[in-house]
Amino acid sequence: MEYYSTHINKLIEQLSHLPGIGAKSAQRLAFHIMNMPKDQVQQLTAAISDARENVQYCRQCYTLTDKEICPICSNPSRDSKTIMVVENTRDLAAYEKTGKYDGVYHVLHGAISPMLGIGPDDIKLKELMQRLQNDVKEVIIATNSSLEGETTAMYISKLIKPTGIRVSRIASGVPVGGDLEYIDEVTLLRALEGRVELK
Ligand code: ZN
Repeated sequence: MEYYSTHINKLIEQLSHLPGIGAKSAQRLAFHIMNMPKDQVQQLTAAISDARENVQYCRQCYTLTDKEICPICSNPSRDSKTIMVVENTRDLAAYEKTGKYDGVYHVLHGAISPMLGIGPDDIKLKELMQRLQNDVKEVIIATNSSLEGETTAMYISKLIKPTGIRVSRIASGVPVGGDLEYIDEVTLLRALEGRVELK
């Protein structure tokens, strides 16, 4: 049944596709947007399409960035021989906020999940292995401590070990199933400093 205009219904439907937005929140947002000044709505839609159009993967670490090579990879004072592997750009941002890590990153954009049908080819793993042909001293695996994160960590360490490059895993202390981006900086640093080499 059509309670609202078809335009509003369409907007509600689109909004409800966003993560964490259920039918009720989508409705609330849609009506909020209807009450916003038109120029504000334009700014919002422009920001969404500009971000989607102009943001790309860094050619080296695959984080989301405005340039071909992100500011971290292009910073000569970062140690390019130490690569921290994270699941997404939000996790990278969490480690950057600590201000204590001076290596570079590799962003997988996901984790291996047999249950969801996400295999090694669906994340940026080949790209990581290609990077390891350069001079790399250590790979720090900082995937989440969820089942998927652990599966991915194990898979990566098995791949890397034959290369002779040191592989380590951030320490537990990061709560199980915890998303890295919600963990405070002290805990993140402790996890990084207490990382253990995978043998
Ligand atoms: Zn980069």
